[in-house]
Parts: sequence; C-alpha cells; structure tokens
Amino acid sequence: MIKTLSSFGCKILKDEPLSKYCSFKIGGPADFFIEILNEQALLEFLKVMSGGKFYVLSGGTNVLFSDKGYRGAIIRLAGDFRKISVLENEISCGSGVLLSDVLKIALENDLVGLEYMAGIPGTVGGAVYGNTGSKDEWISAAIKTVEVYKNLRKELVNKEEIVFGYRKSGLENCIISKVNFSLKKDMKNGSLKKISGNIRKRLETQPLNMPNAGSIFKNPNGFSVGKLIEEAGLKGKCVGGAQISKLHGNFIVNTGGALAKDVLTLIDLVKERIKEKFSIDLETEIKIIK
Ligand SMILES: Cc1cc2nc3c(=O)[nH]c(=O)nc-3n(C[C@H](O)[C@H](O)[C@H](O)COP(=O)(O)OP(=O)(O)OC[C@H]3O[C@@H](n4cnc5c(N)ncnc54)[C@H](O)[C@@H]3O)c2cc1C
Repeated sequence: MIKTLSSFGCKILKDEPLSKYCSFKIGGPADFFIEILNEQALLEFLKVMSGGKFYVLSGGTNVLFSDKGYRGAIIRLAGDFRKISVLENEISCGSGVLLSDVLKIALENDLVGLEYMAGIPGTVGGAVYGNTGSKDEWISAAIKTVEVYKNLRKELVNKEEIVFGYRKSGLENCIISKVNFSLKKDMKNGSLKKISGNIRKRLETQPLNMPNAGSIFKNPNGFSVGKLIEEAGLKGKCVGGAQISKLHGNFIVNTGGALAKDVLTLIDLVKERIKEKFSIDLETEIKIIK
C-alpha cells in the first residue's frame, strides 16, 4: 500500500500522533496518517484498502480521538481537494477548502448567504458531513450539488437527494470530494456587519483561547444545552486536564495535557446529571473516534 500510494505523491506517516491534527489537541498515534492529493490517488487508496479500516479527517475541529490512537488509516484530502473556483453565482470547492476561505471568496465576488460561517473553523467536507451552521442557518441551504466517492465510484448528488437534518447529512458512508454552492449576488455591506457581529459574539461567549472541539452536545429540541449545563452547576467542573468551560457550558476545554478519557468522563457526568435533573437524554455532537 505504502509503495503504491507514494507513487501517486501521497504523504504517508506511520504511528503519527493524532493530537497534532485536531483542535482538542488530544489523541494517540494512528497506524497510518495519509494525505491524499488527487482523485486518482483517492481511487487507488480505496482499491488498496478495500475492507481495511480507515477514517476521513478534515480540519479535526469536531472530533475526539482515543488516547490509544487509531488502528488503521486516518486519511485527509489535500492537494487538488483544496482548490476553489467561482463562476457567476456559484462557488465550486474541494472538500479540503477551509470555511473561512469560502466565505472570503464569496465576499470578494459579492455573493451572500454564508455570513453565519464567520468564526466556524474547519473545512467544507466536515461542514457538509455534519450540516454545520448556526441556530437557524445551515450549510445545506447554499448547496447545489455534492460530489462523493461511494463503493469505488464517483457520484454527483443533487441537494434534493440528500437528507440533511440537524448536524447530519445522511452522507455517512461517503467520502465527500467536492461541493458546489449556489449563492445570491447582493451588496455586501449587510454581510460585513453580520460577520463582525458573529465574530464578536463568538469571542465573548466561546473559550477560543484554549483547545476545544466546539459544542460537545446537540441542543435538545427547544433547549440550549449550554444553559442546562449551567443550571446543573457543572460549569468549571474538571476531570484531569479537561474542564467544562467556565464561559460556555457546552464546551469542554483542554487546560493542558487532557486525555480523551478525561473528556469522556466529563461527557458521561454531564449526561447523567442532565438526565437526573431535567429528564433529558443528551446526544453528543462531536465524533468520538476509536
Ligand atoms: C471553536 C469552535 C466553534 C465551532 N462552532 C460551530 C458552529 O457554530 N456550528 C457548527 O455546526 N459547528 C461548529 N464547530 C464544529 C466544527 O467546526 C464544524 O462542525 C466543522 O464544519 C467541522 O469541519 P472539520 O473539517 O473540522 O471536520 P472534522 O472535524 O475533520 O470531521 C468532522 C466529521 O466529518 C467527517 N468528514 C470530514 N471530512 C469529510 C469528507 N471529506 N468526507 C466525508 N466525511 C468527512 C469526519 O469523518 C467526521 O465524522 C465549532 C468548532 C470549534 C472548535
């Protein structure tokens, strides 16, 4: 596998610490960490790996890796998958493009509708997979088509065929390779105001000075999970190097040297207390990878 993929220009690392590739800065070594640079190499990888265990990682801003790492291959789409282009009101980008770059290109071309993305880290691939967004605006609204790899075949899927929901896309068994957004042309004055408002709010309410993975839990219907955690008196609670943020109840921060097991203990504790106090079952938003 190493020889074949290297011949396609892929970068292959063995026993690579996953803490380097996620915003939580937590995680043991992966057997293999492979950067795939183009479609040909991706197809070759899928052929070679057929039946083998692998996981697609992008920006790593919504994941928790195990302290033991990952037995198998972690792959990241780079190279050609980081290309972006604009034609009239459409932006076409590889799944490895950063959300901040999509927003920047949109503004440069007077294309509006993605302002809620301001301050959300990560890439287009991760965002489409999890239907990333704010309370009332999701990335799915701007999508026209998504190109995916499934069972060794490339497919172009129209938005109407994708069952998007709250932080899910139904694309669980696919590798997202490219996304086409269709946006509205408009004056961007309103956009800039919205963007600066969003960024100010994030700076005030999120613990951005410490490693974290965004919201830990999904909001239960009609409730803010951050407020529930605050009412349960759990803000600031620590286990090892992990702490429920004092600023935002739905964030866990790595205060230094946190282990995945510390974060998981806090997650279990929150679930238990919220169930006891409010009879609500919480569901994690972050992906826990073993
Ligand atoms: C400070 C902070 C604030 C955040 N704020 C928000 C917010 O306001 N709203 C929100 O929705 N999220 C938020 N997040 C979470 C996160 O930033 C988003 O979900 C982001 O879109 C994830 O993208 P990523 O590239 O980092 O994905 P990753 O974390 O790398 O992956 C997330 C999931 O997507 C899958 N995936 C990634 N790429 C692909 C691909 N090419 N094909 C198939 N599957 C793929 C992975 O397997 C994994 O299951 C925040 C995170 C942080 C740290």
